[in-house]
Amino acid sequence: MLYKSLNSQSPKVTFQEAVTLGLAPDKGLYFPEEIPTLPIDFINSIEKFSDDEIAFTVIKPYINNEIPDDELKKIVTDTLCFDFPLVEVGKNCYSLELFHGPTMAFKDVGARFMARCLAYFNKIESNSKNTILVATSGDTGGAVASGFLDVSGVDVVILYPTGKVSEVQEKQLTTLGKNITALEVDGVFDDCQDMVKKAFLDEDFKHLNLTSANSINIARWLPQMFYYFFAYKALKNKSEKLYFSVPSGNFGNICSGMLAKKMGLPIAGFIAATNSNDTVPRYMIDAKYNPKPSIATISNAMDVGNPSNFIRIIEIYHNNFSELQSDLQAMSFSDAETKAAMKFIYKHYKYIAEPHGAVGYLGIQNKLKQNDNAIGVFFETAHPIKFLETVEPTLNCTLEIPDAIKEILAKEKKSIKIENYEQLKSYLMSN
Ligand SMILES: *Cc1c(COP(=O)(O)O)cnc(C)c1O
Repeated sequence: MLYKSLNSQSPKVTFQEAVTLGLAPDKGLYFPEEIPTLPIDFINSIEKFSDDEIAFTVIKPYINNEIPDDELKKIVTDTLCFDFPLVEVGKNCYSLELFHGPTMAFKDVGARFMARCLAYFNKIESNSKNTILVATSGDTGGAVASGFLDVSGVDVVILYPTGKVSEVQEKQLTTLGKNITALEVDGVFDDCQDMVKKAFLDEDFKHLNLTSANSINIARWLPQMFYYFFAYKALKNKSEKLYFSVPSGNFGNICSGMLAKKMGLPIAGFIAATNSNDTVPRYMIDAKYNPKPSIATISNAMDVGNPSNFIRIIEIYHNNFSELQSDLQAMSFSDAETKAAMKFIYKHYKYIAEPHGAVGYLGIQNKLKQNDNAIGVFFETAHPIKFLETVEPTLNCTLEIPDAIKEILAKEKKSIKIENYEQLKSYLMSN
């Protein structure tokens, strides 16, 4: 299996090359040249397999033999060292909790997997070094910082918009030190992302082996398929019609679910649930893609005006709008609706959802209303404590702070303030 660039102007590459390059030289995202299908027996008897075995089977065709099976099994087991519980939240509706990893965000899985793949490749090519450059609107930074901490041969530089991430998120990416540096950008997330994109094209950085760890990197993006397989395994006997509602920002998570479906996982359909950043919901009305600058909301990890994985969705559906429409509904929800949903879930089910999960809940409820015998899963993508500033006043409750978070909050923030690309450049050149 090789990876092609979605701009079609660069040669095909191996998994290792795609992971270390991040973006293709023609600026296109990498995409598998063909989507493998899983044996029907595997899907039909999925309950016989452990989560680790499922993950190994699903990811293996994307890696070929570039990582030997025993190493890949170790990487998968290490990546998935926590639980993915399904919690019933009302009739036919489940929250798949993706936040039980070290930084309490679903991005832990992708970040841990990518870090371990890079560590493996650096080990077999002993002098190899990479610099991970990543923009974050909140959770990516913490997950990448934690996933790559102490990985030898890798330096991590994280750009985040000042004042736009929560206190816990900020502490998670500014307190680790060692091979992790946080750059605090005077601007919004899109400014951070633009700087990162510019740096990747800058010839002056060739020697740094710059790599992305956003969901544009296939090693971050592909392992997110696991969630859909785990939920399917748990719910397959309850209904033939299983829908997923995914709170979406850069659309990496939902797009990996679409890939899982193409591999043979029986998913009835997807709901892309967004906040007011509604570029994709608008696209699903008239097939016109008009990205807009991002708007700040209470679900800030989804404040993305121009979702980077949208192009992969178009590829999966062969740029066929009606084919996409039959699998995907997209819905946008305001902050007021999100808060109302958080209150409703708390009042009726005693379940504490943070804003991203609540946006997902709104999406799945909308679907279940149209569909009596369907089962719906929404992804709860972060622990409520990470959005304490919104959750506590909205629900009028006090959250218990997990020990791991207490430790982080007590640590001292260390960041370097930058205002523009030149300052990013001088930082990178001096290190
Ligand atoms: C990143 C993130 C999302 C959005 O995921 P995408 O793959 O970018 O669509 C949703 N919720 C939380 C908490 C996140 O950190």
